[in-house]
Amino acid sequence: MTTTVLSGTGVGRKAVIGPIAQVRASVDAAPDAVVTRDGAEVPADQLPDLIAQSFKQVEQNLKNQAAGASGSLAAVLTAAAQIAADPALVAKSQANLKAGKPAVAAIDDAVNEFVALFEKLGGMMAERVTDLKSVRDRVIAALLDQPQPGVPSLDVPSIIVAEDLAPADTAALDLDKVLAIVTELGGPTGHTAIIAGQLGLPCLVQVRGITNLEDGTVVAADASTGKVTVNPGDDIAADIQAKVEFEKQLDADTEPGATADGHTIALLANIGTAADAVRASARTDGHVVEGSGLFRTEVLFLDSPKAPSVEQQTKEYAGVLSAFEGRKVVVRTLDAGADKPLAFATQPDEENPALGVRGFRSARLHPQLLSDQLAALAQASHDTGTKPWVMAPMVATPAEARDFATQAREHGLEKVGVMVEVPSAALRARAILAEVDFVSIGSNDLAQYTMATDRLRGELSDLLDSWQPAILDLIASTAAAGRELGKPVGVCGESAADPLMALVLTGLGITSLSMSLGSIPAVRFSLRRHTFAQCEAIAQAALAGNSPEESRANVIELLAPEVKAALVV
Ligand code: PEP
Ligand code: MG
Repeated sequence: MTTTVLSGTGVGRKAVIGPIAQVRASVDAAPDAVVTRDGAEVPADQLPDLIAQSFKQVEQNLKNQAAGASGSLAAVLTAAAQIAADPALVAKSQANLKAGKPAVAAIDDAVNEFVALFEKLGGMMAERVTDLKSVRDRVIAALLDQPQPGVPSLDVPSIIVAEDLAPADTAALDLDKVLAIVTELGGPTGHTAIIAGQLGLPCLVQVRGITNLEDGTVVAADASTGKVTVNPGDDIAADIQAKVEFEKQLDADTEPGATADGHTIALLANIGTAADAVRASARTDGHVVEGSGLFRTEVLFLDSPKAPSVEQQTKEYAGVLSAFEGRKVVVRTLDAGADKPLAFATQPDEENPALGVRGFRSARLHPQLLSDQLAALAQASHDTGTKPWVMAPMVATPAEARDFATQAREHGLEKVGVMVEVPSAALRARAILAEVDFVSIGSNDLAQYTMATDRLRGELSDLLDSWQPAILDLIASTAAAGRELGKPVGVCGESAADPLMALVLTGLGITSLSMSLGSIPAVRFSLRRHTFAQCEAIAQAALAGNSPEESRANVIELLAPEVKAALVV
């Protein structure tokens, strides 16, 4: 077996070896594809039964998957199973076949008829169209004896491989059996990467050629080097094993975040669901965290066709607050739009959704959505006795900050902040901080908007590099405003997860770092081995660079030798 190496961009530092399982984007079928079994064409008189069997098989698969899932995912799978069980769909497909259409076209046309009908009926029915199409793809795949499209159900622990994953696909993963996620496309700060980080999974993006591999091929995926070794030999396996051991050592340190001389900096976890909160808040697995610096509430509702009720939200938020038992939890109000579409909040036809009605701006069109969310948070706080910090995403002006703060305080929420993820907010951080109790820098979006680069375009990821001096300047001036006003300034974008950047941020005066759970141990290790004065010098060295490479190289020169040896590849 030949060993080959594919290169991409690693997210985080974890490494793993295992077989791959491909996520099939869609079926590969011409309308007149010949239906075969065991290499022979299926006789025409057997096709009606085979169509019925294919629907039945899909219904059963979906039911099985639903039984193993929970929450909104289980609801989505059950709804899809009901569609596959609809006798009208089978009958229409068989009628089309009888009328002379080839088998694939017969199913396709039958589904399209229902799609048109559902769209005409509108409302809840129109929202089922995605389910109908996904059932169609699955039934056609079953008919043609092809692998089922979408996220596979895994028999053995596997590395999930895909062109890219929709957030909902990521949510459909059977976490107990997923070793890592590797994608051909996607960017390091896209949502697949972020959700993978939240789940503590190693992740690599932009790995060209990975989707050409056969299911079951064994690969070594190393996020710290950005390399995927296909059919790795013993030497690579030993190297990966050593990395796994080092990560275990880092996990053993569970003290609060601080520099060598005791300057504290809270190390917090980014979460998206109550299950994430439970995982992050556990004190038994070595991941002791001081709370959550970013609860991305929209993740809870990515699959919801309609706005969640106040009661439903209260339950979800109370689950998160009680998991952290009084520790700090920063709840971000819904960040719908752009790359996180929510069926009930996102504008359908925006030409530039990243620049459109997203984040806090959604409240202009859906004010009830925001007030319901604030009411649910206030109720969850009352029910659990834990007071959340609450912040709005995508705030661009002091007036927006004031508006949000007023509304949140009217609901009785005491600690109110906004995210700094638009350059205008960073440039006017002093005026924004005057309106609120804290700010948190969303470095992913701050990079996107500062560098005018779509964060999902992996091929432009050099421009989105968080070491870009222009981005560092905006973070530095925001941190300076916080110091001046004596108010907390956190960072909750991916740059907080970089153990070298964490030194820079600390030296600039950032007061908390929130990141994917799996990134915390290396950041803690790095901080613990430098004094605050060293962090300040490191921050100045980073700002002195004229390119991301220069800034990073300046920092590497000043690193403690132990950190350099362990973390610089
Ligand atoms: C960010 O933009 O850095 C951020 C933390 O928010 P999100 O990644 O959810 O857009
Ligand atoms: Mg953001």
